[in-house]
Amino acid sequence: MTDFAGKNILVLGGSRGIGKAIVQRFAAGGGRVAFTYAGSAEAAAALAAETGAEAIRADSADRDALVATVAGRGALDVLVVNAGVAMIGDPLTLDPDAVDRMIDINVRGPYHAAVEAARHMTGPGRIIVIGSVNGDRMPFAGGAAYALTKSAVQGMVRGLARDFGDRGITVNAIQPGPTDSDMNPADGPMAAAMHGFMAIKRHAHASEVAELTAFVAGPHGAMITGSFQTIDGGFGA
Ligand code: NDP
Repeated sequence: MTDFAGKNILVLGGSRGIGKAIVQRFAAGGGRVAFTYAGSAEAAAALAAETGAEAIRADSADRDALVATVAGRGALDVLVVNAGVAMIGDPLTLDPDAVDRMIDINVRGPYHAAVEAARHMTGPGRIIVIGSVNGDRMPFAGGAAYALTKSAVQGMVRGLARDFGDRGITVNAIQPGPTDSDMNPADGPMAAAMHGFMAIKRHAHASEVAELTAFVAGPHGAMITGSFQTIDGGFGA
């Protein structure tokens, strides 16, 4: 595959799970790929060795570090903001500091990274945030704080698409449903309940989400903007 040959690509949160699959997909397409990580140094080093991508430690909750990392990549062709965490539980007992950190990573991070990427883009760039079908639908208790972060991504995508559209920059969210990863293992305790909400009763593979991401990021995605591309096995249907 050469569909991303020579493209300057940054994936925020690429060491594991969906982000890792996205890094692998862009690298296989010939892209010049860098990715960030926060805690998983070993996994990041292994992925860098496997793909030739550059691993950068940068905590998405640290705005200054995040903005400096994005600016340091210069004129990006593609920014993917995948870094995200999920705090699920009774809102009366969830640690409020942990909830605020989730909001920092899932909402503030994508916004500031997207704006900084657009500041430096010189061509028809692509900005993609990995949101969630939970931005549309939260069918179980305990997900309010997580859902609010993914709904916030939708508002950001709508607005920034209009801010940057006249420069040919597209801004979109990919919205996975249950996807096999450390965050949401296909054999985890919640799996059967999640499959109950789905038309296709299995977790997605991270590579399936990566393939959709690559389509939106590629040359055929030029007219896709301000949109939410849902890949959820019918979870939200
Ligand atoms: P994982 O927990 O498996 O992986 C998360 C990735 O994000 C890791 O590479 C991690 O890096 C990185 N990351 C987390 N926090 C930070 C941070 N503060 N700074 C930089 N990187 C960070 O999650 P998934 O792959 O499952 O999820 C990826 C995205 O997809 C998230 O935004 C999630 O909300 C979304 N999503 C996932 C679904 C699922 O079912 N799996 C469903 C819908 C949406 P490190 O380990 O180095 O910190």
